[in-house]
Amino acid sequence: MIYTSYKKIDEAGRVVISKDIRRKLSLKHNDILKIDVKDNVIVIKKAEPSCEFCESEENLLQFKGKTLCKNCLEEMKKIN
Ligand SMILES: [Zn+2]
Repeated sequence: MIYTSYKKIDEAGRVVISKDIRRKLSLKHNDILKIDVKDNVIVIKKAEPSCEFCESEENLLQFKGKTLCKNCLEEMKKIN
């Protein structure tokens, strides 16, 4: 299903995501959004934890406050 709404950008560049959309997507105050721009299309979605090196969202580990995936960890192990 596609939900379409029209919003005006304010003088500071802000756009309000309406309450019904926030509720539908379980977006809360202080959640982080990821904004991707490609071919003149803006995609905004709730940020999920991802590897800081390759942006994978699978097989994640925490190391010294950083998030990385197992694939990148394995690649790092090969560095001499
Ligand atoms: Zn990675």
